[in-house]
Amino acid sequence: MSFDTAAERIDILVVGGGAAGMLAAVAAREAARKLQIPDTDCSIVILERNAAPGAKIRISGGGRCNVTHSGTPGELLAKGFLRREEERFLRHALYAFTGSDLVRMLALQGVQCEARPDGKVFPAAGLAAPDIVQAFGRLIREARISVEASCTVSSVERVGVAFIVKAGERRFDASSLILATGGVSYPSTGSRGDGLLFARRFGHTIVKPSPALAPIITHVKPPGELAGVSLRAVRLIGSAAGKQVSRCGDVLFTHRGLSGPAVLSLSRDIAELFRGAGSCDVFVDLFPGLRPEELQEQLLRESGKNGSRMVRKFLQSCPIAPPDGVSGEAPNGTIPSALVPFIMRLAGLSDDLQWSGLTRDKRTALLETLRRFPAGSVKTLPLDQGEISAGGISLREVNPKTMESRLVPGLYFAGEILDYAGEIGGFNLQAAFSTGWLAGESVAGSRQEDCG
Ligand SMILES: Cc1cc2nc3c(=O)[nH]c(=O)nc-3n(C[C@H](O)[C@H](O)[C@H](O)COP(=O)(O)OP(=O)(O)OC[C@H]3O[C@@H](n4cnc5c(N)ncnc54)[C@H](O)[C@@H]3O)c2cc1C
Repeated sequence: MSFDTAAERIDILVVGGGAAGMLAAVAAREAARKLQIPDTDCSIVILERNAAPGAKIRISGGGRCNVTHSGTPGELLAKGFLRREEERFLRHALYAFTGSDLVRMLALQGVQCEARPDGKVFPAAGLAAPDIVQAFGRLIREARISVEASCTVSSVERVGVAFIVKAGERRFDASSLILATGGVSYPSTGSRGDGLLFARRFGHTIVKPSPALAPIITHVKPPGELAGVSLRAVRLIGSAAGKQVSRCGDVLFTHRGLSGPAVLSLSRDIAELFRGAGSCDVFVDLFPGLRPEELQEQLLRESGKNGSRMVRKFLQSCPIAPPDGVSGEAPNGTIPSALVPFIMRLAGLSDDLQWSGLTRDKRTALLETLRRFPAGSVKTLPLDQGEISAGGISLREVNPKTMESRLVPGLYFAGEILDYAGEIGGFNLQAAFSTGWLAGESVAGSRQEDCG
């Protein structure tokens, strides 16, 4: 192997000190030690643009850090990764390093975690995201991994069998390279898509980054009375050019548009519809648990019971029925009072209308408004404000059993740089930890093969 003498020679070089990069480095050391490769024969270095690793972990889960989700790897894959290709790709990684492995690893560092009833796993009371970052810091020190902080990689190339990595005036020559530079959302945390440019130069296909787990900004801002109002366990529908996507969950009206779990979860699909059609209208089905005829029957029953009762009073106390198996954060909520005047207006009903005055046409209009309340027309989904970004290195060009590039031997990828996007609930951090672990383990294994 011929290396430049002025360069710093590294055996395993990791670019990016986020969840994926840190775990990749730790796994590489653990695997190398298992293979009885002395630490002195296997240098492992993380290059990180920020002054310290773990910036995104620090802000995860609002600073509490939802590290993973409880359940078996199979359950995590089914709940967290709704696209078949992504779920299949992540299978090996999530089995190689499971949520339980992560919880055990953190517990050994003194950070206990606990699962909430909804399956989200957080550090136990009194602990938060910085404790997670510190735990990884200790693991990195124990593993004798060097972290070069405030070190921004500007170029990566392959010369012979070595990777030449430049960062300012410094140059590193590495035998194996793991790119773990993250996605492109929240660029202030250091994730700005640099790794995608490096990978493209190696011939990799980059699926264009797009918003995921992002809020929706609508053309017309929701009226002030609605900002902050939350709808529990409804169905959110995105509709454009005859196509429709939907998701059940909670929806929140904001000052600029829409947010909340159902919006974040559906944002990737809506962004795709919006990109294809140039526009996308968003609706809310307030009664996703009832078939249209059942809701019709309920309205008829009400009007038969008490003709002098005002329709709006009924709406204010009417429980929203979530569909089977789907619950919002507070299932069986009612239609918020603030929304009722808008429902009445959109259905063309006067504010003081009584059941006795609800003609067939009016009932039909009310029914349609309840099933398809217009929540706005998409203006944009801010890519930089998503909890993650979708898109990245095409999964077809990466070996899911090792995370090694199918195009460039010795080059590995881990974390959000890859073209997958998980749901909210700890799935994205787990995917970053698991792909990082698998990449690190595989690199160390391949080094032994080289030495052997
Ligand atoms: C506000 C917010 C809240 C979130 N909450 C959760 C949550 O609670 N649970 C959950 O599962 N997920 C959450 N996520 C998503 C999760 O944090 C990410 O998916 C995960 O951290 C990605 O890890 P990564 O290591 O792949 O990338 P990153 O964490 O983005 O790490 C990439 C690292 O590479 C460095 N880097 C980039 N380019 C260079 C370069 N040229 N040279 C050197 N270094 C470079 C960056 O500085 C960065 O430190 C949240 C995300 C956000 C933004």
